[in-house]
Amino acid sequence: MAAESGASPQTLLRPEVLALAAYHVPDASGLVKLDAMENPWALPPELAADLGRQLAGVAINRYPTADAPVLKAAIRKALGVPEGCSILLGNGSDEIIQLLALAVARPGAVLASVEPTFVMFRMIATFAGLRYASCDLQPDFSIDVDAVLTLLERERPAILFLATPNNPTGNAHPREAIERIAAAAPGLVVVDEAYYAFGDGSYLDLAARYPNVLVMRTFSKLGMAGLRLGFLVGARAWLDELEKLRLPYNINALTQAAATRLLADYAVLADQARRIREARAPLATAIAALPGTEVFGSEANFILFRVPDAQRTFDGLLERGVLVKNVSRAHALLAGCLRVTVGTPGENDRFLDALARTLAAVQGPGLPG
Ligand SMILES: *Cc1c(COP(=O)(O)O)cnc(C)c1O
Repeated sequence: MAAESGASPQTLLRPEVLALAAYHVPDASGLVKLDAMENPWALPPELAADLGRQLAGVAINRYPTADAPVLKAAIRKALGVPEGCSILLGNGSDEIIQLLALAVARPGAVLASVEPTFVMFRMIATFAGLRYASCDLQPDFSIDVDAVLTLLERERPAILFLATPNNPTGNAHPREAIERIAAAAPGLVVVDEAYYAFGDGSYLDLAARYPNVLVMRTFSKLGMAGLRLGFLVGARAWLDELEKLRLPYNINALTQAAATRLLADYAVLADQARRIREARAPLATAIAALPGTEVFGSEANFILFRVPDAQRTFDGLLERGVLVKNVSRAHALLAGCLRVTVGTPGENDRFLDALARTLAAVQGPGLPG
């Protein structure tokens, strides 16, 4: 130990880094895991076996193919990326958010979004030394376009992130809202479609129609959370510049091979997404039928709902073996709210049973409401 050096985290690190709270990932061992929007379905055994054979053939002694042309072609084919748009790959879409933030981080630059939304927008703004600015959604979580236009006018953000369907609220922003915002924005508008597979529309076409719109997607919510793969679609003029910031081997060889193989059977993943979507409305109805709950509409693979006491309800669910996400302290509009991922029918039943028992215990016998 060189005690005389004086170097310590407090003296050396940026104050905004010291002030950050680390993104907390709870241990879910032994629990019904409904906190992180994972696809609960396993791969069909034949597909899993073939995947194993493909992966066995990967030369892991070599660096991965740097620009992953085979994987990009598979994405193009499976997802209908517009002709003329380029693709940039990220180690999860979190990495793409970070890359975009680094790219626009001129002195004084602003990264903007609407609140409540995905927490990584704000956190990554801080990582990159950007100022974060936001305006609130309405109390029902619909987007207030006039408020966004005022924000754009006042802050002139270099980049605006809009997640749709939004996390943790679950609702999608209407197309005309996004188009009005894109037309007025002085900088980039990134449409984060992490939950596209569970909603009704796609905004990929906006990347071809608006020169300042980029569309970001991830395979995490579609059954590949463990692979870490996201991508960005947009005009070549933007993506050629952004490519310069991508670390050359950010998508490892096993991920490239596995995702390419799974995208060849995209129908399997799409069918799992359809099953999750079909389970969503009955789950929402069942939560809403419990005393004291308020359920918000969702076009994603999770449901946001409000209870009389979020912390005690979260704790009660945990005691009964079910892990959800307590978002009640993330934003004033989320007061009392929990977020539950749609699971398999068995998981959803266990959750509903635990929720019913918890609410009965928390509210106590004979108390009103
Ligand atoms: C989950 C999520 C992401 C990040 O996904 P990765 O696993 O990093 O690809 C991005 N945006 C939103 C809105 C999300 O909910």
